[in-house]
Amino acid sequence: MNQENLIKEDQQYILNTYQRFNVAIKEGKGATLYDFNGKKYIDFSSGIGTNSFGVQDGIWIEAVCHQVHQLQHISNLYYTEPQVQVAKLLCEKTGMKKVFFSNSGAESNECAIKTARKYSFDKYGPNRYDIITLEGSFHGRTMATLSATGQDHFHQYFFPFVEGFRYAKPNDLKQIQQMVDTHTCAIMIETIQGEGGVCPLEAAFIQGIATLCQEKDLIFIIDEVQTGNGRTGYFYSYMAYDVVPDIVTTAKGLAGGLPFGAILMNDKVEHTLGYGMHGTTFGGNPICARAAFSVLCRIDDALLEHVLKCRKRIEEVLLPLPIVHKMTGKGLMIGIELKTATPVSVYVNRGIEKGVLLLTAKNRLRLLPSLNITFEELEEGLQIIKEILTK
Ligand code: PLP
Repeated sequence: MNQENLIKEDQQYILNTYQRFNVAIKEGKGATLYDFNGKKYIDFSSGIGTNSFGVQDGIWIEAVCHQVHQLQHISNLYYTEPQVQVAKLLCEKTGMKKVFFSNSGAESNECAIKTARKYSFDKYGPNRYDIITLEGSFHGRTMATLSATGQDHFHQYFFPFVEGFRYAKPNDLKQIQQMVDTHTCAIMIETIQGEGGVCPLEAAFIQGIATLCQEKDLIFIIDEVQTGNGRTGYFYSYMAYDVVPDIVTTAKGLAGGLPFGAILMNDKVEHTLGYGMHGTTFGGNPICARAAFSVLCRIDDALLEHVLKCRKRIEEVLLPLPIVHKMTGKGLMIGIELKTATPVSVYVNRGIEKGVLLLTAKNRLRLLPSLNITFEELEEGLQIIKEILTK
């Protein structure tokens, strides 16, 4: 199929909920991709932070193919090796006690919400179910996670939303302290609000929430769907703040591009969900779990150092440009604020023209390249970005 027909038939047959860019990617290697016309792109999007090791990564392919040849699926009625490998590794690396597997970020957060409410129900009875999240947050597209998302424009059309979510201002500890009452059971945050514009929370705010949760016996949930699995230069981003959450949710880069999520629980909540209280057909699927195990095994000090070196290089090249106001985020989760009224989508389209794939988050350009992008790919891509930002 040629690119023109593919785009035409996509628009004819696929529900029109995504505003796609005018390009169809066919294949690639690492962070170098090609469309159906053979045009080359340096990829700064990695499938919105999922292809942790880029495209056609040899080790990832071997892990996935090995599992395909062994057992593609069997259901959660039986024990499988890849799930145990991933859960054990996650617990060893984080100190958490138990893991539940899901298929996506939203599902990971659904599980966290259910766990927090059940913990509170068991201990305090039925009227303590409010969860405080932050304005500008994004937690997913299911009914509960949309309700948890602290952005008004997501709270339209689909009424009634799930009750029991209240929204606090980021970095205003006093307000959140005042909001907590006898109905509150949990606080859920992203350390860096990704979809909200790559906006990092202040360390003192995150630490203040951790203390507040401890004092009031609230479940402290950190949504690491976008920030997790090496993206910020830490294994999980919360590790930069000297805090210990009760629940960590993750997905995106966890299985390097396959649909897979995990919910990590500490000793406070590890026994909260019992038989029959939660489940999923595909969650923990052996192929996805094998992919995740191979990804997690490679998030070591050398990779995290590479992430930080790439960040430094991106700052060196882009920060001095007159149009760049500031760069936000950590590691390879990057927001770029421009000193211009031109919509950032204009630069993304220029990027596609010139051969780079960029993302946006609110009014910022966003870069989420694969964690192992090579310095050669980085230089090539940065030169193109520099060109489109100085034109
Ligand atoms: N939480 C955060 C912080 C996210 O960035 C996202 C997706 O962008 C989600 C949850 C939802 O993840 P998914 O799209 O896999 O359901």
